[in-house]
Amino acid sequence: MDLRLRDRTVVVTGASSGIGLATTRQLVGEGVRVAACARDLDRLRAAVGAIEGTDPDRVHLGTCDVTDREDVESFVGGVVGRFGGIDGLVCNAGRSLMAPLSETTDEQIREEFDLKIFGSWNVVRAARKALAQSDAGSVVNVNAILSRQPEPRLAVTSAARAALLNLTHSMAEDLAHDGTRVNSVLLGLIDTGQWRRRFEESGTALDYDAWSAEIAADRGIALGRFGTADEVAFHIVTLLSPLSGYTTGTSVDVGGGVGRYV
Ligand code: NDP
Repeated sequence: MDLRLRDRTVVVTGASSGIGLATTRQLVGEGVRVAACARDLDRLRAAVGAIEGTDPDRVHLGTCDVTDREDVESFVGGVVGRFGGIDGLVCNAGRSLMAPLSETTDEQIREEFDLKIFGSWNVVRAARKALAQSDAGSVVNVNAILSRQPEPRLAVTSAARAALLNLTHSMAEDLAHDGTRVNSVLLGLIDTGQWRRRFEESGTALDYDAWSAEIAADRGIALGRFGTADEVAFHIVTLLSPLSGYTTGTSVDVGGGVGRYV
């Protein structure tokens, strides 16, 4: 199926690992010019450079902390200067804070809201004009099922994700005036760097597969396993496609059935 993304330009934040890297790989496969950022440029270069079929003339790499407005504006300005416009944004950069509310400091709470809200809004705001000039402007915010179904062990992350989900709806209404669509993918537990790091820190005697299967059972994931970054990237790429042209202000769950809401 032709997703009509060939020769379009898409910005992916947090592209050096996990979901951002898988999305970059799938977009390169669709013939998209990708502008990718992360804070550690060497790691980004190594990760994106290893993607088969990457043409350096069609990939723009930059260092950027998405919580820093000036950083983001400079990166986005560089993309427009090099590729002449932007058709899609994937606001993916981030992490979660695994801690119950009573063990979370005020500073951690502020940081978590800062990352979730500005990690998207800084990028959307900087790229808004360029997206408006596209005939297929589309934004995908990478969010979590926690936004609708909070977990006490991820209390502040859940609250910050709920705020981003709510804000995504307002962004969709606001940017609809420009013809730009804004949607979310809501993730369950996805096998990426975040979970590999937690496994290493856990000190468990189990191997990764047994450890993750135990967590999947504990969390009640209907499909009994973590998802893969490629299974998420597929939905991101689909929402970027102009074939999804009548879909805005909504979300797709990629959680293997972990969501309990109807
Ligand atoms: P990874 O840890 O594998 O990748 C995170 C990426 O984001 C890296 O490229 C990292 O690079 C970049 N990054 C982190 N902070 C910043 C920042 N402030 N500015 C710019 N880049 C940043 O994570 P995942 O692929 O698992 O996660 C992707 C997104 O999905 C995140 O927002 C995460 O919270 C969310 N998510 C993931 C879930 C999961 O189970 N994996 C579940 C729910 C949501 P660098 O450190 O060099 O900046």
